[in-house]
Amino acid sequence: MAHLRQIVGTPHAMAVVKANAYGHGAVPVARAALAGGADWLGVADIDEALALRDAGIDAPILAWLHDPDSDFSAAIDDDVTLGLSSALQVQRVADAAAELGQMASVHLKLETGLSRNGVHENDWAEVFARAAELEQIGLLRVDGIMSHLANAGAFEDQQALECFERGVAAARAAGLTPTLVHLASSAAALRLPVARFSMVRFGITLYGLSPFDDATSADLGLVPAMTLRGRVALVRRVSEGAGVSYDYLWRAPEDSTLVLVPLGYADGIPRQASGAQVVQINGGIFPVVGRVAMDQFVVNLGADDPGVAVGDVVVLFGDPATGAPSATDWADASGTINYEIVTRIGHRVTRRYLHG
Ligand SMILES: *Cc1c(COP(=O)(O)O)cnc(C)c1O
Repeated sequence: MAHLRQIVGTPHAMAVVKANAYGHGAVPVARAALAGGADWLGVADIDEALALRDAGIDAPILAWLHDPDSDFSAAIDDDVTLGLSSALQVQRVADAAAELGQMASVHLKLETGLSRNGVHENDWAEVFARAAELEQIGLLRVDGIMSHLANAGAFEDQQALECFERGVAAARAAGLTPTLVHLASSAAALRLPVARFSMVRFGITLYGLSPFDDATSADLGLVPAMTLRGRVALVRRVSEGAGVSYDYLWRAPEDSTLVLVPLGYADGIPRQASGAQVVQINGGIFPVVGRVAMDQFVVNLGADDPGVAVGDVVVLFGDPATGAPSATDWADASGTINYEIVTRIGHRVTRRYLHG
């Protein structure tokens, strides 16, 4: 966060810690990001925000995605700022604020081209006018205006940026005075300086991973935060022709030494990476062979036993500077993105933190 803040130089910086901080653990990540200079935390839903409050985190938190049953009262009562995407949500928040006798802090989220949530341009006038009225009677304050980019390309981002600027101007013309104007997540924060406004929202880069196909973590001056380790649970010598794991996707082409690693797709190891990815054991790189199962997978050490023992550490991914595969390598092997690889790491995997 300190590194990223220094690059963007915006007055405010949000650490996005939704989805258990992309699998890293929301509370420890939130604390570390705040210590590193974030002054806002971002989550998708209200429950995620309340969990941070329950852990004693009192920094500003924005929650921007609400299902029809979301508990706006609980959010207002716990001082959670709400990102709102419709006239109906604005009204429901005002009703909750009136009932509680407390003012709600809101950011209006504008639809600028993603076709997801956000107030559509056709509805800006109505929603801005209503929000201004609700400010007048003290039920809410529009502290921010936000949107989110599709990262679809330079032209599309430019269209969205212009749409966003029209929206901010229209909100101001309606009498609103948002101080937090924010559009950029990691990709635009780093590569589209005009999209930085008064705050940027860092997700994937906060975890040391690159949002770009054409730049690695190291290229961006980042170090992956997550290293996923297992332990060798069993070492087994098999004969040529032995089938390994379900469906015998792989058979030993020669007498081989195999090790069993007790991590599987229930822990977030992609089954699609069966037979397509490597791991690091005692500094050596060895292939995952056969199907990744729910709870375990098998690694082939080859014909010559390199002396791996039960209990030795297996690094699935981490910082490539250490010679380990990266989360992005696993993503490439399984047809997805690094975001999904780290976010899907399951709850059976114990998180340990080296700093803070
Ligand atoms: C997830 C999310 C982010 C973070 O995006 P990264 O690409 O991980 O930086 C920012 N803003 C919104 C609205 C999001 O949903």
